[in-house]
Amino acid sequence: MAAAGVIALLRRCRKLRLNVYPCVHSWTTQPCAFKSSKPETLPNLPKDGAAHVPLLTFTEEEIMIKEMVKRFAQDRVAPLVQKMDEEAKLDESLLKDLFEQGLMSIDLDAKYGGTGASFFSTILAVEELAKVDPSVSLVVELQNTFMNKLLTVYGTEEQKMTYLPKMSRNLVGSVCISETGSGSDAFSLKTRAEKKGDYYIINGSKMWISLAEQAGVFFVMANANLSAGYKGITCFIVDRNTEGLHVEKKENKLGIRATSTCPVTFDNVKVPESNIVGQFGKGYKYAIEMLNTGRIGISAQMLGLAQGCFDQTIPYIKQRNQFGKSIFEFQGMQHQIAHVATQIEAARLLTYNAARLAETGKPFIKEASMAKYYTAEVATLTTSKCIEWMGGVGFTKDYPIEKYYRDCKIGTIYEGTSNIQLNTIAKCIAPEY
Ligand SMILES: Cc1cc2nc3c(=O)[nH]c(=O)nc-3n(C[C@H](O)[C@H](O)[C@H](O)COP(=O)(O)OP(=O)(O)OC[C@H]3O[C@@H](n4cnc5c(N)ncnc54)[C@H](O)[C@@H]3O)c2cc1C
Repeated sequence: MAAAGVIALLRRCRKLRLNVYPCVHSWTTQPCAFKSSKPETLPNLPKDGAAHVPLLTFTEEEIMIKEMVKRFAQDRVAPLVQKMDEEAKLDESLLKDLFEQGLMSIDLDAKYGGTGASFFSTILAVEELAKVDPSVSLVVELQNTFMNKLLTVYGTEEQKMTYLPKMSRNLVGSVCISETGSGSDAFSLKTRAEKKGDYYIINGSKMWISLAEQAGVFFVMANANLSAGYKGITCFIVDRNTEGLHVEKKENKLGIRATSTCPVTFDNVKVPESNIVGQFGKGYKYAIEMLNTGRIGISAQMLGLAQGCFDQTIPYIKQRNQFGKSIFEFQGMQHQIAHVATQIEAARLLTYNAARLAETGKPFIKEASMAKYYTAEVATLTTSKCIEWMGGVGFTKDYPIEKYYRDCKIGTIYEGTSNIQLNTIAKCIAPEY
């Protein structure tokens, strides 16, 4: 690699260079993890993605970021996983470190304080974090694929300069679409925005808002023109300290417990017209676009979760003896293990393919929905099987397997349920014939 290339690479990765901490916890990534999926380097992967290379071929920068995040997950996240799950609370110092390491702005332009890496690097980072803790991976996933992207693509230069540098430094964003009465049918939302001079007054109630407890800024979808139906939906930037915005008590959840999920209410919340993101009445379009990309992020989360669970389980199975030999040696076990390993590999290829399509500007909606739908299924299968293979100990909190089993369920629900993904896939297939 040319010297200039190395310097550019190091510059980009400057924020991701990590310290090594002693690793002491059973949540630690297994060193022998899935060797068959070890990526190979292609230093000059063309920007248009036209080269015919295997999907597991990464640029040097992507490999470097993947390795750094893997180390961070092992050294910094793993020791906190069980405590954060039990207390249902994200460790504040960890959140600070996610910012400091550049993980909250991986593919954000360096001009706004980001690392300036590829979208694919974000996907790899989410996968690596999810191997250790799917909650922490969600924090990174949402900020990168939804909040930063929304502002980068549709924000005015003033909005970008006001918010993006902070969002790469210490400001968490939350997206407010869902309500009690509108989940899958998101655009039937009831939150209203009424124009009063240069201001809008927002009234309504949002449900299930991820990271609301930590968020300093909310991207709120509200209908500002009822007569236009869903074409009245507009996206507003609302600062947390705005009068009338209330973050309510967080949900007590089955999984991804370290992430807060709260109702957020808007009681005569006054925001200037300049806080509209993009165009008036285009909020529905932006939400769909961000969710389409976000689905690849959730695929990476479910993929990492499945892989992490598998990697924790297989060494135990190889060591555990029954009937005088390792239980891994029973063909009844081997066939199941091989089946799950094949499913994980297929999920990986779907996810990486969707990510490469998205970052090279090719159509990816069907592929993203397929990846999200499939990885959620695979994560469900993998975690369930891993508990069975571990026997009684897999059912206890002495091992991390039961947590993966709880965490995986959300993959079939948020950013579009599995049925909604199937609807999208079918919609894309219909005109193909
Ligand atoms: C932990 C968590 C975090 C979340 N984070 C956020 C967030 O940050 N911001 C945000 O705005 N929202 C968030 N959500 C909301 C999430 O996107 C919704 O829960 C999801 O879209 C499903 O909506 P619902 O819960 O109302 O289920 P419903 O829409 O009521 O669906 C219930 C069932 O009906 C099925 N169904 C509905 N419509 C159809 C159809 N047309 N065809 C076939 N089946 C259908 C669904 O597949 C599902 O099985 C979060 C949710 C959770 C649980």
